[in-house]
Amino acid sequence: MISIVVPIYNESGNIQELYTQICHSIGQEKFEILLVNDGSTDQSLEIMKELARLDNRVRYFSLSRNFGHQAALRAGMENALGDAVISMDADLQHPPQMLPEFIKKWREGNDIVYTIRQDSEDVGFLKKTFSRFFYAFASKVSGLLLEPGTADFRLVDKKVLSVLNNLKESHLFYRGIIPWIGFKRCSIPYQANARTFGKSKYSLVKMMKLALVGLSFQSVRPLYVAIGVGATMCFLSMMYSGYAVYVHFVTKSTVSGWTSLVLLQTFIGGIQLIVLGFAGHYIGQISENIKSRPHYIIADTNSK
Ligand code: UDP
Ligand code: MG
Repeated sequence: MISIVVPIYNESGNIQELYTQICHSIGQEKFEILLVNDGSTDQSLEIMKELARLDNRVRYFSLSRNFGHQAALRAGMENALGDAVISMDADLQHPPQMLPEFIKKWREGNDIVYTIRQDSEDVGFLKKTFSRFFYAFASKVSGLLLEPGTADFRLVDKKVLSVLNNLKESHLFYRGIIPWIGFKRCSIPYQANARTFGKSKYSLVKMMKLALVGLSFQSVRPLYVAIGVGATMCFLSMMYSGYAVYVHFVTKSTVSGWTSLVLLQTFIGGIQLIVLGFAGHYIGQISENIKSRPHYIIADTNSK
């Protein structure tokens, strides 16, 4: 059986159409659909409930508030019973027509089948630029292994799913963890459709938050930047000290007290940054070890 996980945040105009297209595309395959309501404020939950009432292959999970896309995905994945799980957006940007291709690649022995979006006209210039910049920057600074164009539109085998479900970190970033966990994989390209109803639920702030999680989750490497800057400052301050001492003794043209002030200031500035960097490093390690809150809370479901 195939499980299809769909996180939903105010998608009342899309759910019915998505359901129809999934049923139509998937053919003879046995499947279940897990709809996760991520604190929608519109009619989404009612529509999900109605679908679940009419079709017992549909299960819904309603989170107690808006926990965010990644947490909603987690809620669905932890409850999926299939031999493979496909995650996709509710807004039809991820074409359900691709489901058979996912399944085919999976049957060929791939444990992860992920997708690479070819830029569509619909994506705004700002978002496109931001995501391109982020992918490049993230891989440099944090050691994050990200392929541009990857999103949460993928199939994972049952054994990959159990790895994902056992991750303890408090902030999830699936598209960053997927390259890290290994397993046999393949990618398929796709053209993202235009959003059919409503607008993007990823505000700039939500996008920034996800970016920050992405940056810090793979390693604490960004914290070393402070150490590097501090060390550089110290080095420069030593050079400058040489100059200050030279000016003091040779040209004898300095205001009294200037040399010692300059020395103290530059040197201590450098030391402070180094210490700050180290302190940051420990905070990073602590935060890496405290990842144990639940990722979501289910308030209502038809699932036993
Ligand atoms: N989503 C969610 N919680 C959120 C934001 C988004 O469950 O806080 C869902 C949304 O309903 C959609 C998917 O996550 O099914 C992707 O969101 P969206 O299409 O708005 O993102 P974009 O395609 O613009 O990156
Ligand atoms: Mg979308």
